[in-house]
Formats: sequence, C-alpha cells, structure tokens
Amino acid sequence: MDKEQLKKRLEEIKSRLPAWKPSSNGTPGLATMARNVSDSIIRNVGSVLEGNNLKVSDTQKQSRLNICNECSFFDKEQQRCKKCGCYMVAKTMLTAEKCPIGKW
Ligand code: SF4
Repeated sequence: MDKEQLKKRLEEIKSRLPAWKPSSNGTPGLATMARNVSDSIIRNVGSVLEGNNLKVSDTQKQSRLNICNECSFFDKEQQRCKKCGCYMVAKTMLTAEKCPIGKW
C-alpha cells in the first residue's frame, strides 16, 4: 500500500467513526474520547506521511503545557483537558495536535 492509498484508507476509517457528541456536563464522554483518539491517530499518521516530525521540540511542548496550566479547562489533578479529554503530557508533544479552542 503506498502513501496515497494509506491516507485514503485512513480517511475511509475516519468517515465511519461516530460523530462527535459532548456529554451532558460538557466534558467528553467515553464515545467522544474514543473518537478523539481515533482522529488523533489518523491525524498524526497523516502528518508523518506528509513528512512532518511526529513530535515537537521540548521547548514547544513546555510552552504548550504552560498555556494549559493557566487554562480554566485544565484538570491539574488528572493532567487532562476538560474540552477534549486528552492527557496533555501526551497531546502537547505531538506536532499534528492542536488546542480544541485555539490557545496553541
Ligand atoms: S488544550 Fe487548550 S482548552 Fe485544553 S487545557 Fe490546554 S489550553 Fe485549555
């Protein structure tokens, strides 16, 4: 399977995943988190296939974490974002990831 075929296959898989749905209290439920993880895998594989580094520099990762630490949506106890449900230690290191509300 070549690069274009793999990207097309990843898009097909993504199109079959359930739509994003917030839970009643606004934090991501399990289905949403499963969708977010699937989207993240597809996004990061696609990014690497396009020639980007998988991980950002330590400086950029720390800069992202600093922003999260000041954010009202950051759960410091769990080190997770209440918007996307992701663990920020992992998410902030990945080049293809973004803050769900555009802070980084
Ligand atoms: S990813 Fe964005 S919304 Fe989530 S905690 Fe970090 S700055 Fe806040």
